[in-house]
Amino acid sequence: MVKLGDIGEFGFIDRIAQLGIVRPEGVVKGIGDDCAVIALNGSEHLLVTTDLLVEEVHFRLDWTSSDVIGAKSLAVNLSDIAACGGTPREAFISLALPHYIELEWLDGFYLGLRKVAEAYGVNLLGGDTTRSKAHLVINVAVTGFAPATQVLYRHTAHPGDVIVITGPTGTSAAGCELLLRGMPVANPLLLSLVESHLKPRPHVREGRVLASSGACTAAIDVSDGLISDLFHVCTDSGVGALVREDALPVAEELMVAGKELGVDPLHWILDGGEDYVLLAAIRRDSVPDLMSLADQNHWDFFPIGEFVPEPGIRLIRSDGTRQDLVARGWDHFR
Ligand code: ADP
Ligand code: MG
Repeated sequence: MVKLGDIGEFGFIDRIAQLGIVRPEGVVKGIGDDCAVIALNGSEHLLVTTDLLVEEVHFRLDWTSSDVIGAKSLAVNLSDIAACGGTPREAFISLALPHYIELEWLDGFYLGLRKVAEAYGVNLLGGDTTRSKAHLVINVAVTGFAPATQVLYRHTAHPGDVIVITGPTGTSAAGCELLLRGMPVANPLLLSLVESHLKPRPHVREGRVLASSGACTAAIDVSDGLISDLFHVCTDSGVGALVREDALPVAEELMVAGKELGVDPLHWILDGGEDYVLLAAIRRDSVPDLMSLADQNHWDFFPIGEFVPEPGIRLIRSDGTRQDLVARGWDHFR
């Protein structure tokens, strides 16, 4: 008998993807991208995404206050809208509440969530509330829209396109590790790692600029880990990738945390996860223009490699050697 652990989270999603569609009209993209993409009558496509956050799997109540958890619950969904180049619109929140969740905690949760909603112009329009016999479970669904011709997908990268990330990776995973090890975080550098884990910023503006530039051929948000998410783009696009170690941005605090915890920062950078930066495929001749646009808007734009025709991902190490990479990022069942 096939077990979940054998096929992993993504093997499971591939199995159900086959079952999804009973009425193909209007379905531009079903299961398999950051958002479902639905054609409406006008020139805009509807985007829909949902994420589930489970206490003790995604967060711990003793790590932070409820407003931070509320803000992150919405932010991670906005990140999926950003990955498709969309503008977020409406949110729906469902909660399964164990007995130990107090009203005061919930007030904080909604306050934090509302701050993010205000910042991105998102209405909260519904949800559901039930009792939970074990842990706190949070589900958020968000809709958005994008011009039909501008939606960014995972399956449309071409060989020769440059791989760009809109921020450094690894800081969230390092922050998570500090929290897991119960390290007293006095050093402000290390505190910023914890913050980047607890308070991710969805790259919605970046996504919109990339989508409207006409130069971005594919995108994904980095939630499982840089290489894992690059693998999704490669597999879905039928291409491979070269990543240059020299070109990978390394946050200063990551080096400090690496020394402190005895971890090679490259591990966090490549496989960490929960970074919520965008990974995009950019037409080579448009890279300089987009780079100066990013500069003007004060956001990061790091070309880290390129897509190639041969399948697989290879890392070109700083010493010039090549190393085949496998997806070691987050998979819930492996
Ligand atoms: P992301 O990391 O961007 O949130 P996921 O890896 O969670 O994306 O999901 C990949 C795709 O699989 C998405 O299209 C998502 O909607 C779909 N998916 C995940 N779990 C299920 C499920 N249990 N039933 C149907 N579709 C699912
Ligand atoms: Mg995503």
